[in-house]
Amino acid sequence: MALTLYCGAPDILQGYNARARAAVKQALARAGIALHCGSRVQQVDAGTLYLTDGRSAHFDNLFWCTGAVAAHWLADSGLRTDADGFVSVRDTLQSLDDEMIFAAGDIATQRDHPRPKAGVYAVRQAPVLAHNLRNVLLGRPLREHRPQRRFLSLLSLGGRRATADRGPFSATGAWVWRWKDRIDRAFMARFEELPPRMPARFPELLPELLADHARVPCGGCGAKVGGDSLRMALARLRQRYPRLCPDPAAADDAAVLPVPAGGIQLQSIDILRELVSDPWVMGRIAANHALSDLYASGARPLAALAAVTLPFAAPGLQQRELEQLLGGALAEFEPLDCQLLGGHSLQGPELALGFAVQGEPLDSGGRLLHKRALVEGDCLLLTKPLGTGTLFARHMQQGADGRDIDAAIAMMLQSNYQAARLALVHGASAATDVTGFGLLGHLREMLAPQQGASLSLAALPVLPGALASLAAGIYSTMHEANAGLGNCPPGPPDPRRELLFDPQTSGGLLLGVAAARAELLCRELREAGYSAAAVIGEIGARGPAEESFRLT
Ligand SMILES: Cc1cc2nc3c(=O)[nH]c(=O)nc-3n(C[C@H](O)[C@H](O)[C@H](O)COP(=O)(O)OP(=O)(O)OC[C@H]3O[C@@H](n4cnc5c(N)ncnc54)[C@H](O)[C@@H]3O)c2cc1C
Repeated sequence: MALTLYCGAPDILQGYNARARAAVKQALARAGIALHCGSRVQQVDAGTLYLTDGRSAHFDNLFWCTGAVAAHWLADSGLRTDADGFVSVRDTLQSLDDEMIFAAGDIATQRDHPRPKAGVYAVRQAPVLAHNLRNVLLGRPLREHRPQRRFLSLLSLGGRRATADRGPFSATGAWVWRWKDRIDRAFMARFEELPPRMPARFPELLPELLADHARVPCGGCGAKVGGDSLRMALARLRQRYPRLCPDPAAADDAAVLPVPAGGIQLQSIDILRELVSDPWVMGRIAANHALSDLYASGARPLAALAAVTLPFAAPGLQQRELEQLLGGALAEFEPLDCQLLGGHSLQGPELALGFAVQGEPLDSGGRLLHKRALVEGDCLLLTKPLGTGTLFARHMQQGADGRDIDAAIAMMLQSNYQAARLALVHGASAATDVTGFGLLGHLREMLAPQQGASLSLAALPVLPGALASLAAGIYSTMHEANAGLGNCPPGPPDPRRELLFDPQTSGGLLLGVAAARAELLCRELREAGYSAAAVIGEIGARGPAEESFRLT
């Protein structure tokens, strides 16, 4: 095997001292690697490399080893860049054009202290970046970063030897390799043992904020969110959703709701702790989750009241958080013409968001869906996949795959509205939404005392990554309590069985439907976007000594 190294510069490792360069050249020669300096590549075809001096070379495999290049989109960002296209920043790491935009590491160049793109510079910028991001939000002074001029470079030479370079100093040998190996392993070990949980968003993480909360926060109405933050957030949301938001000028202490003549209204409430850190997405999930109770009853939403606990923070941050949370919810309410009538907001140690929702029957004849109305012989249909409990438990331990979390969020953002509509069209006998008690807990609530359900574990729709997470023994806090509710036959360890106890957020509808309509309803659900909808079991009679559930 022949290896050849073409280098565009007149010599390799131009920033290194002559002894280090010589050590690397010796190592290349010892390894039989031919070196051609001053050989700029002009073009590459399949199997051939063309140099600017007219020479060419054939190859079987080509490794391009180039320096960092700026991302193309930066040129269109409107931010000033250096000659190579990297974002130009001040020593505070702020863009020259927008003080709220920070850039550090390979994407940026400090205008007054430019340095090559290397991790050794990036890591030292990180603490300054973290400090300045926080302080710019608090209106406090920013720190300036002075990058070091020199750094220790340890280059592996193969054969467990390495060379060290720092300014005029250079050393080569096996001991340098052991030194490098120790440093590299210690660095990587810091990422192998991550803290078991994400840091909680408590005010001590922003010690500066404690100045405002040096006293123990008040209880009762003293814990309300400041009037200004609330007014400002609502005023901005009202500009965007004028029909759906309360008019502060006309607001009374209680909202007035018209009652449909001779009709009925349905009410429900659901509140969630923070599940995702993006407040807008959190608002959408909480809204969907609360509305699901109405859909499970065959109702469409008319109005909602928000119940919000905002983490202790500076008023400006609380206003922004509130606006994002309610903005997310309003994005869900808008297509349904569901009004946000008002609500109540508190300050507390952690975020919670929920909605009390009012609705009216979806069916023009006033027919509703009920939980306890299953009929023997009914098929059981589940509209959305299971697994949010275990996936988010894993996410909190920093062990989940981001793609699995994305899929779980997409599932939670899918409204059950169309599923409820189709359930009514196909004469579903009973319905509920699957949430905190898990599939089995909610199914138990649907069964009459003389009824039992047989469930096919293989048919259960599952979110990607959920079975692996359950197989790894990662359960949500509610899992054990759900499993302890009893009446489920014991079985060998099986992640699909554990799925029955996994608590869901904004989960699917569990429907009972006559066997003759089940396949058609399932098909129409899939066509309506519930791609994982599945028939998962059926309802039968149960003798007094028999279990409520039979698993197949
Ligand atoms: C093979 C190799 C060896 C190196 N060896 C060394 C060395 O020994 N010593 C040294 O000091 N430096 C070394 N470097 C350079 C060093 O890795 C970089 O300078 C450093 O990682 C820069 O850190 P950063 O955080 O700015 O960027 P990165 O570490 O590149 O991180 C940027 C992150 O942004 C993500 N990202 C990119 N685009 C998007 C997008 N549109 N949306 C969301 N995320 C996005 C990327 O996936 C990536 O995770 C080496 C580089 C390479 C490639």
